[in-house]
Amino acid sequence: MEYETVIGLEVHVQLDTRSKMFCGCPADYQAAEPNTRTCPVCLGLPGALPVINRRAVEYTVMTGLALHCRIPEFTKFDRKNYPYPDLMKGYQISQYDLPLALNGHLEIDGDPDLEYGRRPIGVERVHLEEDVAKMQHFPDDAEGYSLVDVNRSGVPLMEIVSKPDLRSPEEARQYLTSLHSMVQYLGVSTGNMQDGNFRCDANVSIRPAGSDTLGTRTEVKNMNSFRSVFMALEYEVERQRRVVEDGGTVVQETRGWVEDRGVTVSQRSKEYAHDYRYFPEPDLPPLNVGSEWVDRLQSALPELAPQRKARFQEEYELSEYDADQLTVSRATADYFETTAALTTDTTNRPAAAKEIANWMTGDLSYLLNQDHRDIADCPVTPGGLSELLGLIADGTLSTSLAKTVLEQMYATGASAPEIVREQGLAQISDTAAIEAAVAEAIAANPKAVADYLSGKETAARFLMGQVMRITKGQAQPELALQLVQAGLDAKRP
Ligand code: ADP
Ligand code: MG
Ligand code: ZN
Repeated sequence: MEYETVIGLEVHVQLDTRSKMFCGCPADYQAAEPNTRTCPVCLGLPGALPVINRRAVEYTVMTGLALHCRIPEFTKFDRKNYPYPDLMKGYQISQYDLPLALNGHLEIDGDPDLEYGRRPIGVERVHLEEDVAKMQHFPDDAEGYSLVDVNRSGVPLMEIVSKPDLRSPEEARQYLTSLHSMVQYLGVSTGNMQDGNFRCDANVSIRPAGSDTLGTRTEVKNMNSFRSVFMALEYEVERQRRVVEDGGTVVQETRGWVEDRGVTVSQRSKEYAHDYRYFPEPDLPPLNVGSEWVDRLQSALPELAPQRKARFQEEYELSEYDADQLTVSRATADYFETTAALTTDTTNRPAAAKEIANWMTGDLSYLLNQDHRDIADCPVTPGGLSELLGLIADGTLSTSLAKTVLEQMYATGASAPEIVREQGLAQISDTAAIEAAVAEAIAANPKAVADYLSGKETAARFLMGQVMRITKGQAQPELALQLVQAGLDAKRP
């Protein structure tokens, strides 16, 4: 029997606000010593009253708008009740029936192995809630204990729930990557998955191909990278298929991904599913998001990756590949455009853009990858790169010398002209100086000269290499090759 996979994702995104969701505590919970970012509100002390963080509401509406959601004028917060020690109040303030954003979609390319192709994936809702405290368990200690860090309690958390429209782990990966890029471009979250700023629970079921009723789903948790989401889903699809093929039925349950074993294990089944006893939060007024406010946010939305990629192809005549590479993050795209603005004039824009793209995706990204640095912290600024390109354009540096200079700029923070001046690195285009090096190379390599004269043209290349060595790479390459050939031809009888 052929099966179809059905996946729906619930993504939690911590919003990058200065203060927490319902109190004035700083939200930089990771930078701080445990339990130093707390107050009566986020500690859940009786009588403390929450106040809604306006910025968090705006970030959620912006995300909703970017996902083409409807923003209802009237929303409210609700209490979601469950007893767990990471929940300081015994309930989480969340949104139940009236979320901030509804019924949107996010475009994906589609799994190349399936027939569905590029299409919108439905987004059911985007709502706002608060994060919970962080628990650390020490079960193996003689005493056996747990620690609670309340810093994270009350950090604004946005939840984005997809419709069950994804048809394979690959499609889930595409949806996640695109959503991740979106929140970073919007500037609403750092989106760091390792730090838990961007988390995903995956709901998955299978059904006979062609059926249009949904199968029983499991919900998989605990993945902390895109790769783990993909692997957990592959594992879970296969596990469910085996259950069905062995004549069993899939049980609705929550399963945890165990990274080091590469399996999912049952955590709780439906009988133990929570009854959250949702009810409206009586300590907060209902929230009216007026159309003027929404219009203002809509018109301030930044350009997102897909549009920016298309514009890069159009405006700078970049290839799709380059445009893709240069828009992976907003910081990368900004770096490119700032450099381009400093480097190009309208007559040479495509050529200069291509050159900037080559340096950014080549040498510069190699240097950044080597010490796991983000382009936002690159020691070579757009201004610095543009100066370097200027020295290539005016003939001061050959491309290979420029590579050496870039490495030094990266390592020391010095500018290209400084490095060239201090180390005398400028390209030699003085004919007499290169001729002297050519004469030296010819005198030292009689075998290569003989080879050349007997018809082995590649020997000229070897001699040119010697000239570059003698001039410490500074001879202007085309001129050096010309002079080598002239020097050799002069030896012909
Ligand atoms: P809950 O309230 O238990 O979280 P929802 O109905 O809100 O359940 O669904 C949560 C997520 O599960 C959504 O992303 C939805 O698309 C997905 N989902 C629902 N039913 C299925 C199913 N049968 N197979 C796969 N995913 C599903
Ligand atoms: Mg759920
Ligand atoms: Zn607080």
